[in-house]
Amino acid sequence: MLQQTQVATVIHYYNRWMQKWPTLQALAQASLEEVNELWAGLGYYSRGKRLQEAARKVVSELAGRMPRTAEDLQKLLPGVGRYTAGAIASISYGQSTSQHGNPSSWCQATGVVDGNVIRVLCRLRCIGADSSSPAVIDRLWDMANVLVDRSRPGDFNQALMELGATVCVPKSPLCRECPVKQHCQAWHRVEKELSFTSQKLFGKAPPVPDVEDCGAGDCPLCPPATEPWDSSLGVTNFPRKAAKKPPRVMRTATCVLERRGCHGAPEYLIVQRPSSGLLAGLWEFPSLPLAQDLQEEKEREELADHLQAWMGQPVAAKGLQFIGEVIHIFSHIHQTYVVYSLYLDGDVTLDPALSPSRWVTEDEFHASAVSTAMKKVLKAHKKQHRKESSPVKGSKQKRGAKAQGAGSPCPGTQLSLHAFLRAPTGP
Ligand code: SF4
Repeated sequence: MLQQTQVATVIHYYNRWMQKWPTLQALAQASLEEVNELWAGLGYYSRGKRLQEAARKVVSELAGRMPRTAEDLQKLLPGVGRYTAGAIASISYGQSTSQHGNPSSWCQATGVVDGNVIRVLCRLRCIGADSSSPAVIDRLWDMANVLVDRSRPGDFNQALMELGATVCVPKSPLCRECPVKQHCQAWHRVEKELSFTSQKLFGKAPPVPDVEDCGAGDCPLCPPATEPWDSSLGVTNFPRKAAKKPPRVMRTATCVLERRGCHGAPEYLIVQRPSSGLLAGLWEFPSLPLAQDLQEEKEREELADHLQAWMGQPVAAKGLQFIGEVIHIFSHIHQTYVVYSLYLDGDVTLDPALSPSRWVTEDEFHASAVSTAMKKVLKAHKKQHRKESSPVKGSKQKRGAKAQGAGSPCPGTQLSLHAFLRAPTGP
């Protein structure tokens, strides 16, 4: 997770995880539900799932023994890519362990390439081509594997990553304090430019440019001719990245189904997502992906039909109260949840053949394996609820059905199920 976010965000999750599952054997016995519950809020849920799958594989198929080389780690464990394999092999095992227990077959030490290392190496070697292109990434791995200290690969790799995190930072790198500046081509280039400028000032003849510095020709590692070296950027000319693909835009209708629990406190119905795909195994309010550019009326009808099929009883589209839109950005998806709510005053029999579902109190909701996006949805629902409950601040919703709970004996209560169901409800 530290590839995606900061230590401050992850540390709490890491400590709880290690407390709960201190060994691979303990993790192998955990359910996906437990993993998702502990991971909830951190995002990138497939990582938690794969960690648990990898633990199961080590315990059940590899006799409880972790693979120790980068090659085996990547080949045998789900979710372990090139970087993770290199980091585990070098930091945990020094990758000097013999392969398959054969002491005569010593493995080569492995380097690592993460975002920090990419930046350092691109600057060290003035690599100005798109740093996410396969040609550049392969070259960076070759460089990392050549550079790594064979006797202490773990320390070397951590030092290189730390150099990128603390000295060779994205903006305003601390070149004067950098322990490798003498080996850094980007730094030399900046120095040469400075001396060139001062020589010009004093009317001396400029030095002949070094062909290695000019970035001309068809080199797959040099900056493209259309984006030459920009003197104003100095060493931060590197690395360069192709423009990011815009995130996929998605729109999903979601409905907060609410009822009064046994002590009068609200309860919400949540359903479980499929065990594969986005947010696998997480719980959410009943939701339905929508086509783009759908009219509001049609959105509402589609959601009502979805709920109807799922509850086995008619649901009137007009009975759905519009709450608002909640936007959540996943790593590659720009998701808009169109939030509705529905108050039920009778019990609902759900089709057991469909997704697992359960009623939860607010505390139970927050302790469940629900995504941050769903927490935002509940927050929006509660905010609307409070507005309606307030005699002074009660306000109209932007669109959709008007708030129905205002005249109810229970302040803030929304529609009664009987108000929109055309047929009698089941027991
Ligand atoms: Fe990075 Fe500057 Fe050090 Fe070069 S000299 S590696 S650009 S901090």
